[in-house]
Amino acid sequence: MAIKTAGQKKGPVVILVLIILVALFFIVKQAIPKKYYYTTDLKCESCGSIYQEKIASGTTFPIKCQKCGERAAHRAMKCLDCGEVFTMKPVPIAPGAPGEMIPPEMPKCPKCGSMNLGPISERKM
Ligand SMILES: [Zn+2]
Ligand SMILES: [Zn+2]
Repeated sequence: MAIKTAGQKKGPVVILVLIILVALFFIVKQAIPKKYYYTTDLKCESCGSIYQEKIASGTTFPIKCQKCGERAAHRAMKCLDCGEVFTMKPVPIAPGAPGEMIPPEMPKCPKCGSMNLGPISERKM
């Protein structure tokens, strides 16, 4: 008799499970490494547009261009010495070794070789 009564009380159990699921969802959401977004300068290699965009950390480049839709937008920097705007795309270690790319950790100006670099435009936070 007691078992039958418990079986009939399905409504509250379902609600309880839902509450637990929602709670779990929030716990898992908190546990996942937070994606942070940052504003960066981008330059499209396809159409040449230079613009700012908020992108998520861990984004792999190139990303889709805001202007032309081509997947050709790379992070861009500006040389503070000569004013050259250039993209920081990974470069092959050696010709004939396309698999190995150097991440652009130490970017320098391709025009004058200066490492005095900065953002293209002021950050709008
Ligand atoms: Zn473009
Ligand atoms: Zn330069």
